[in-house]
Amino acid sequence: MIPPILPGATLGILGSGQLGRMLAIAARRMGYRVHTLSPDCDSPTGQGADREITVAYDDLDAVRAFAKDVHVVTFEFENVLSETVDAAALHAPVRPSGTVLHITQHRLREKTYLRDHGFPVVPFCPIASLESLNTAIHDIGTPAVLKTAGFGYDGKGQIKIAAPHETGSAYAALGGQEAVLEAFIPFEREVSVVAARGVDGGFTHYGVLDNTHRNHILDVTATPSTVPVSITKEAVEIARGILETLDVTGVMCVEFFLTHDRHLLVNELAPRVHNSGHFTIDACVTCQFEQHIRAVCGLPLGAVTQHRPAAMANLLGDLWRDGEPDWPAALAFPGVKLHLYGKASARPGRKMGHLTAMADTVEQAVEQVTAAREALIGGD
Ligand code: AMP
Repeated sequence: MIPPILPGATLGILGSGQLGRMLAIAARRMGYRVHTLSPDCDSPTGQGADREITVAYDDLDAVRAFAKDVHVVTFEFENVLSETVDAAALHAPVRPSGTVLHITQHRLREKTYLRDHGFPVVPFCPIASLESLNTAIHDIGTPAVLKTAGFGYDGKGQIKIAAPHETGSAYAALGGQEAVLEAFIPFEREVSVVAARGVDGGFTHYGVLDNTHRNHILDVTATPSTVPVSITKEAVEIARGILETLDVTGVMCVEFFLTHDRHLLVNELAPRVHNSGHFTIDACVTCQFEQHIRAVCGLPLGAVTQHRPAAMANLLGDLWRDGEPDWPAALAFPGVKLHLYGKASARPGRKMGHLTAMADTVEQAVEQVTAAREALIGGD
């Protein structure tokens, strides 16, 4: 048996955004110390950590020194370089493993892995040249979506191709980077499963979450989902299969498209805590952040029981366009909870915080959370 990493020990987080911040808050509540490493200072994670190390990810000496000082290393975003993870792994366990990160940080590797292991994915073709794109567009058909193979998130690095003659401009727009062409799926809805797997293989999940996106960015998550029970069972079994096959330790999110004829297709994996799981802080016995810490520290996983129907709405930088949002107006909704990430500048599209609402029904929770968000910029 691998001995657990007990409270009092130090958790090392690669990355320093809001996910790391919420991990740090949960870790410190449980009595852990937290170090974070990223190129930023006064970061959302750094503000809640014991130590913030500001270096480039490819400063491998600094990464090794960071890993020597902690008992376990995890990450809060997947675009950390493999070399960084390998350097850290010389001195501390990295959970989930560098292999999980390597596969999931690259769309082509991820999709190929999923397809080769029998998981349902959107039809795709690897693209290495304009010629291969022209061939692929005939196989996949239009509309289709061209996405960079690496370092994409929230719709960055992707272009819709409506007709075959658009391939040249689309390929040029991505700057000739290695890419993936995917069929465009006219989905009925997008759902996700946020799941956790312990060092001992124990598995928990928060059910199916209904997600709506705006401009490719998650806008609202509502739970419990209104999908039929059979879809919930299938989505959870796919998620379980993926976490087991990849031998994940920690939280992973599996994002799906649900087609109109009720087929689930995996769109993307996130090898970490996820935006669609933020509601768990307020609505569940064990939130995704605590669950991730329990998992990577080799502790038993906690109960995932959800107290009430809930909805989460993201607060993007756009809300600051006319000045500071009206926080008291949102907090006048008694069932609404405010989370802000401590980011100094509010750029459009930047995730600055979120609201969670709990109510008797999921519909009421969505109504309340969206009304509270509108109140932020309602003015008087
Ligand atoms: P991604 O970064 O790949 O998760 O894409 C961000 C969002 O773009 C998704 O959540 C969808 O709303 C949309 N999208 C991405 N790929 C497709 C696709 N193949 N078909 C339809 N919508 C897509």
